[in-house]
Amino acid sequence: MKKGRYLVDNEGFYGEFGGAYIPEMLYPNTEELRKTYLKIIATKKFKKQYKELLKNYVGRPSPLYYAKRLSEKYNTNIYLKREDLNHTGSHKINNTIGQILLAQKLGKKRIIAETGAGQHGVATATVCALMGLECKVYMGSIDIQRQAPNVARMKMLGAEVIPATSGSKTLKDATNEAIRDWINNPEDTHYIIGSVVGPHPYPDMVARFQSIISKEIKKQLKAQTGKKNPTHVIACVGGGSNAMGAFYHFLDNKKVQLVATEAAGLGVNSGKTAASLAKGKPGVIHGSNTYLMQTDDGQIIEPYSISAGLDYPGVGPAHSYLYEEQRANYLNITDKEAVDAGFLLTKLEGIIPALESAHAVAALEKLNFKPSDVVVINISGRGDKDLDTYMKYC
Ligand SMILES: *Cc1c(COP(=O)(O)O)cnc(C)c1O
Repeated sequence: MKKGRYLVDNEGFYGEFGGAYIPEMLYPNTEELRKTYLKIIATKKFKKQYKELLKNYVGRPSPLYYAKRLSEKYNTNIYLKREDLNHTGSHKINNTIGQILLAQKLGKKRIIAETGAGQHGVATATVCALMGLECKVYMGSIDIQRQAPNVARMKMLGAEVIPATSGSKTLKDATNEAIRDWINNPEDTHYIIGSVVGPHPYPDMVARFQSIISKEIKKQLKAQTGKKNPTHVIACVGGGSNAMGAFYHFLDNKKVQLVATEAAGLGVNSGKTAASLAKGKPGVIHGSNTYLMQTDDGQIIEPYSISAGLDYPGVGPAHSYLYEEQRANYLNITDKEAVDAGFLLTKLEGIIPALESAHAVAALEKLNFKPSDVVVINISGRGDKDLDTYMKYC
């Protein structure tokens, strides 16, 4: 198999997916990034700063933990990659650290971001406080009401939270507002996108910043088992960044089965779902060609999931490609299955996963393992933020 065949090509595509379908006025902004991002992140200075911050600020490497009781239950070997233990409680900080350093190198003074549940907004506000940069976070006015604790966090961190009041007043509207801001401030502003979505080069750039996850998995597995490759890697998919990070260094090795879980909500055919691959069709959303949930005349269908972080109508273009090429296996997990998996992990291992991550744990029920298999589940975040929701199921 050709090395790197699942990575982005020189034109910014994964097969037919990806690209940069953007208004002409945005072209100078994405062009600047496209021309500079690979050069900047390859410099010694960037690498050194990125590594040091990941180590001493984020707390990396995140542990790879052998889950003994969970392994006994499924009669196999299960390891948990503990992204929940990162500063700010999820994998999102890996990307915002990378992008803030890049923004500094580009001489940007002002940072903007979009957020749905507020997790990416918090991770962005955090790195802006760290670097002393101005931060504006666009958030749907409905989400502002729903996610009050994260709004408070962003404000305490010094960010201005700007309500998006158009359309459905949720994530996609916040993204539109952020893009509008960027068009109006091309010189001094960097837009930190929170997942492997958006126009090229964002999907590739974010995947590279998250690829630290699979890099560490290899090293840690080798130290703990003598072999660096697992038989399975499992991760949940909203936009798809924690999954791309967990898959990245295994993409070329077909012996490693890649399993991704989409949020089925109340069921893929219930009309209340966020399973963009199962229910979507290719189309353009936020600058890239990818699977998205849309009506016959191309209007975006509002997604639904119990987990705010998986509640996105599209999916990163790399996942559309991995799906069509059948390199990764995409499973649908309902709200109920995720909640049950969240309680199971808590009871057996004393780890309360984010509802997003609970969707990954729920895949264990849908797969058959051999006793000799080595299964790594990416625990993308911690469940403290979801306690109210979990309690409704007690
Ligand atoms: C945002 C988020 C996700 C979903 O985003 P991806 O880009 O698909 O990783 C998953 N888990 C947690 C904890 C999150 O905060």
